[in-house]
Amino acid sequence: MNKNNLKLAVQKNGRLTENTLGFLRASGLEFESYSRKLFSACRNMPVEILYVRDDDIPRLVESGAVDLGILGQNILNEERPKVKKLLNLRYGYCSLALSVPKESPINDISGLNGKTIATSYPRSTQQFFQKYGVKVETITIKGSVEIAPSLGLAAAIVDLVSTGSTLAMNDLRLLTPIYRSEAVLIANEKLGADTEKNPVLRQLITRFTSVLSAKNYKYISLTVPDTSAPRLTKLLPNLVMTALPGQRLSVNGVIKEDMFWTVFDRMKDLGAKNIYMLPVEKIIS
Ligand code: ATP
Ligand code: ZN
Repeated sequence: MNKNNLKLAVQKNGRLTENTLGFLRASGLEFESYSRKLFSACRNMPVEILYVRDDDIPRLVESGAVDLGILGQNILNEERPKVKKLLNLRYGYCSLALSVPKESPINDISGLNGKTIATSYPRSTQQFFQKYGVKVETITIKGSVEIAPSLGLAAAIVDLVSTGSTLAMNDLRLLTPIYRSEAVLIANEKLGADTEKNPVLRQLITRFTSVLSAKNYKYISLTVPDTSAPRLTKLLPNLVMTALPGQRLSVNGVIKEDMFWTVFDRMKDLGAKNIYMLPVEKIIS
């Protein structure tokens, strides 16, 4: 490892790993990664990627042992490390949620007054119940929190869920989500003042944001009869139109995919043909 390189800690082996490595590669970082590796140096930027447990990332970044980290917002909410959040990365979506056994008589938050809640997120849990003025005990369990009710340890659990299926599989019923989470990029608080590392950091952030802004967008290309031009301009004001032989126009540009589907039928009515939609890798503005 080189001490002047920017160090980025990512989860070694877990739910965020694949998407994180995919995101870094989409941002143009070139590196090798395989499961036994502790760190990889990027070939094309002075950046090193360190593979660690996600629970260690807050401390590593806070202490400055590494400069940057990618982890779930849920861990920030729970641990509140002194770090700077730089970006939401739009993957790793999940919620911290309060659930009870399917057959439980409890139907609302106040029904849990005086009860015990099993969770790996005691701080988030206490804060949530305090907000409702409901007093609960928490028992902290690191893994398989969902079995606590059937062991008689707790009346309810607070755990991460991304779909309802894990809850149903464990005979649990959702009472309420507590907060939503996604992967985030964090930085050591003093990194901004590091003149050596700052240019690389800026370059990295530009790459990351260009990938993030491209995510929702598609490049579309189509042709319409030239008589449709005024109405098409109203529908899709930001596209570029070029005249083609045979009284047709070629229309090209980048739009939000949602927008495309919203106007799709009207585009067909205007005589749109040869419609292509392509993914956009990066948007650099
Ligand atoms: P580690 O071995 O690194 O400590 P872990 O078991 O604590 O891993 P994972 O289960 O791999 O962690 O989850 C990592 C992150 O993935 C979570 O902190 C959360 O941000 C996100 N995540 C997305 N969906 C889910 C889900 N359904 N359950 C748990 N975490 C999820
Ligand atoms: Zn963990």
